[in-house]
Amino acid sequence: MGAETPLALVFLGPPGAGKGTQAQRWASALGMTKISTGDILRQEIAAGTALGQQVQGVMRQGKLVSDQLLIELIEGRLSRLSPVRAIFDGFPRTEVQAEALHSLLRERGVPLRAVLLLEVPEAVLIERIASRGREGRDDDAIEVARKRQQVYRQETEPLVSYYAQRGLLRRTDGVGSPDQVYARIASELEQVPGIC
Ligand code: AMP
Repeated sequence: MGAETPLALVFLGPPGAGKGTQAQRWASALGMTKISTGDILRQEIAAGTALGQQVQGVMRQGKLVSDQLLIELIEGRLSRLSPVRAIFDGFPRTEVQAEALHSLLRERGVPLRAVLLLEVPEAVLIERIASRGREGRDDDAIEVARKRQQVYRQETEPLVSYYAQRGLLRRTDGVGSPDQVYARIASELEQVPGIC
């Protein structure tokens, strides 16, 4: 499978699981574009755009931004790619978003080949996020970290069975060094036709 073949992958998992790091490394390895909704929204806030101002309060509280806004954002990003070879990090986060992604990809003839679930125990996650907060991310104070885990369990975790039912879910142990996790993802992706 070459660098011209349309392809989509989703990295799923709770906040702090390491999705962003792994999505970045795999995007480079596979010649794909990482689409990280959290990064995009933080850039909008930093640039002081209307969108940034709209989402700032919600993000600070650790809550989810509206589905409609995220779906429009993803549609915009997909329209920039030709061919579409995208790794999604932090999207979808709700079943509504997952259904929208399904339609957007189908319309463009892009197969979603796998959903990588990074599994990390909650105590490890809270510590990881708290230490990121000490490095200056203002949405990552410990209370907000707890809120984000709660929001994940309520809104996003149902996507685990959603994708398992569709035969797309690949579970990966997310505890360990980035290299160890990368290697585990490699052995999952080797089993998926049409990727490596
Ligand atoms: P992240 O960096 O992926 O943890 O995202 C940081 C914050 O951005 C989240 O806590 C949400 O407030 C917002 N956000 C990012 N992606 C989404 C999404 N797919 N749906 C709703 N809100 C999102």
